[in-house]
Amino acid sequence: METVLVEDVLHRFLLERAGVRGVLVRLGAAWREVAGRDDYPAPLRALLGEALAASALLTGNIKLDGALSIELKSAGPLRLLFAECTDQGRLRGLARWNGELPAPLALSALPQAVMAITIGHAERGQRYQGLVALERPDLAGALENYFRQSEQLPAKLVLAADGGHAVGLMLQKLPGEGGHDAVEDADAWPRIEHLTDTLDAAELLATAPEQLLYRLYHEESVRLFEPRPLAFGCSCSRGRVEAMLRSLGREEVQAALDAQGGEIEVTCEFCARQYRFDRIDAEHLLGGGGAAASTVQ
Ligand SMILES: [Zn+2]
Repeated sequence: METVLVEDVLHRFLLERAGVRGVLVRLGAAWREVAGRDDYPAPLRALLGEALAASALLTGNIKLDGALSIELKSAGPLRLLFAECTDQGRLRGLARWNGELPAPLALSALPQAVMAITIGHAERGQRYQGLVALERPDLAGALENYFRQSEQLPAKLVLAADGGHAVGLMLQKLPGEGGHDAVEDADAWPRIEHLTDTLDAAELLATAPEQLLYRLYHEESVRLFEPRPLAFGCSCSRGRVEAMLRSLGREEVQAALDAQGGEIEVTCEFCARQYRFDRIDAEHLLGGGGAAASTVQ
């Protein structure tokens, strides 16, 4: 079998005998673009890569309109972690931290940590948000619990990332009718879990998608669907930055203009694109009529 190492790709597949559906995501350049934006300590870089792969994984089996994001906030040295995949397969992400991160970087040990999965359109207010309980140290474990609670279906996830690649594998037991043999095959799910447990992070990172699926599940009649391309991409725009400045209010915008010689420069933290606003732009976006606006609180 000839194998081509394909990167930045999402594969959906079915294990027909077992009645299990799966998604495999392999990120290369898209991940390196995100990883290279900051000087991330290795454990945080790994967690960010896992979250980025997971954000794509979770789009695999839903009809997504807008974007799916995974966001983690905590009161400890790891302050924020954000990963997003859009319905167009555009990925972006970042993390913010200060001071020394705990080792190992266990989710369950982060102080006042909250993780949310958000699906939909932020601007249109059409969003679904679910909270992920952080009872397990690793992201894959936390997401498995999330699926068990929210969809009442067992799921299995394996995530791994290093400086070059971020890879994720997700398996979900199909409800009821999926997989015609599954009714009689009560051992199917434990068997798939067991096969998946034989996979370690190094193998997941080093193996091309089709080869990996063949190696793990060759006795399970894998049906592989057309892969979907993924890429780094940012949804920032001048309009969004204007909305952000508006939300700061006139006083803050004026102060920023005064402090920066009459020009505000906003750099997108995801893609480093720069947006500039002079006094005329600012007046325009704040809605003209300066005196009236400033009295409205
Ligand atoms: Zn951007």
